[in-house]
Amino acid sequence: MSESTGLLGPTAIREIAAALGIRPTKTLGQNFVHDAGTVRRIVRDAGVQSGDAVLEVGPGLGSLTLALLEAGAYVSAVEIDPVLARALPTTVSARMPEASGRFAVLLQDAMAISDAEMLAVPDDFGRALNSAASGQELGSAPALTVDAIAEKRSFAPRALVANLPYNVAVPVLLTLLENLPSLETVLVMVQAEVADRLSANPGSKIYGIPSVKAAWYATAVRGAKVSRNVFWPVPNVDSALVRLDRHPILTQTPREDVFAIVDAAFAQRRKTLRAALAPWAGSPARAEAVLRAAGIDPQVRGERLGIADYIAIADASRALS
Ligand code: SAM
Repeated sequence: MSESTGLLGPTAIREIAAALGIRPTKTLGQNFVHDAGTVRRIVRDAGVQSGDAVLEVGPGLGSLTLALLEAGAYVSAVEIDPVLARALPTTVSARMPEASGRFAVLLQDAMAISDAEMLAVPDDFGRALNSAASGQELGSAPALTVDAIAEKRSFAPRALVANLPYNVAVPVLLTLLENLPSLETVLVMVQAEVADRLSANPGSKIYGIPSVKAAWYATAVRGAKVSRNVFWPVPNVDSALVRLDRHPILTQTPREDVFAIVDAAFAQRRKTLRAALAPWAGSPARAEAVLRAAGIDPQVRGERLGIADYIAIADASRALS
């Protein structure tokens, strides 16, 4: 494939950046991938199939976007940088014109996505939804304007696939898992240390708040490490993939109650749970009573407990109050 079509290589990345007059900023975690093998691998590891509805956070210059489109996905992207967001449709129609109807971008902070209604709907996805709703074959949909279709139906993504901005990776991930229940699978590239944390098991040194909170929603598995050389500019941290598969939440206990206990336990992670949970429980004695009622040794530390234990503590606290 020539440099002017298809996926973005190093020359194309430099040319697009120069044409837009952008200088990547650290604040927004802007490190752009210029390696076709890397973006194709991300798409493959995410299990993206033709026709899948995919949410991409931080599409940047479009490296991963084009790989998702190449696989036949519908892609709704959320980008915070106005220059990048405005340039993306042009990049997609120039490099993969046949896929431009499967792509839409929203200029927005991903942390502000409160439900699927907010996401931009690719034109062809809107048409497909519309014809499915009226029982017609795709292609024979009534001539509605794109805006009318987009207003009528929303884009419920099955997968989140992204090279996440490093400084906000965990909050973005947790926010989207909470606010977009249609997400079944997440495959993201993050700082290697964050990938380790998200997939850590109780008892390990790196097990912490991201590990427990991610486990509320999903089962996380650490993926491959990614070379620093596939990025421009080259970052000063290592990157890795992590995959999360959503599992059913088998409790009626409110998430906020459980997360408040997790936050308290790790706010003083060197202390025993009896001491660390005292501010949350009201006193060390009540913390101990709750822990005993939950069947947990008050002398252990929070880093030894799994999400089911934190749920048991929340339940015991309710039962005792
Ligand atoms: N996906 C592109 C790639 O792989 O080359 C770019 C990835 S770059 C690591 C992160 C991207 O996220 C940048 O384009 C940046 O502008 C964008 N970004 C940063 N913070 C964001 C936020 N809160 N919401 C949405 N996009 C954000």
